[in-house]
Amino acid sequence: MPSWEDVPDDIKKRFPSPPEKADYSCDEDHEEALGFWHSRVGRNLGMVMQQYNAERKKVGESAQIKTELEWITRQNLKGLNGNQICQCGTEKLISHSTDPKRLRASLLALIFVSQFVYTHYQKWHSEFYSEFPIPKLREHSLGIHAHAVWFVDQSHGFDKMADWELTSRIFRDCVNHLQKWLQERGEMETAEFKNLIEMEIRTGFSKDQAEYFKVH
Ligand SMILES: [Zn+2]
Repeated sequence: MPSWEDVPDDIKKRFPSPPEKADYSCDEDHEEALGFWHSRVGRNLGMVMQQYNAERKKVGESAQIKTELEWITRQNLKGLNGNQICQCGTEKLISHSTDPKRLRASLLALIFVSQFVYTHYQKWHSEFYSEFPIPKLREHSLGIHAHAVWFVDQSHGFDKMADWELTSRIFRDCVNHLQKWLQERGEMETAEFKNLIEMEIRTGFSKDQAEYFKVH
């Protein structure tokens, strides 16, 4: 059975919480109550948690690009000009969202994979873009594409505003989704894909940041 602390709140709500030590005059009574709780709640909770984790894993592995893009679309962002964002507008966009840390992570990951396809898998880019109309990040002064590293740019302190664990997870799940998407189209060279991803991470991000983006 998973430990009660690890159970997400919306699942906790569906079960009686375990008896607390403070409510019992002696350890023995508490142990007994705990045993009773385990026998009544433990098994069901275990099953619900198993389902919950399997679901999360499935979502994470299968379609993170789609999940993030749909989430961004629901944010109804203002400041997207023809599906383009200029560098100077990103912080405003992020701060106005319902979850700035997730939006920072999502935009970074989505723009990274989109630029990656554009650079290394050109022949799939138009199909990729029509399936995933990911906003483009425009460089403020030159008007060309700006790198996704912008969302964690160190000189502006954006890296300190990121939730690195979340960023790392969304990034890796998006990259895995992209790999699956390319495989479905016959791009089976896993080693080449991984090398290119690693190279882009190494050249695009700082050394510390690159650690978070390692794709296993
Ligand atoms: Zn601008």
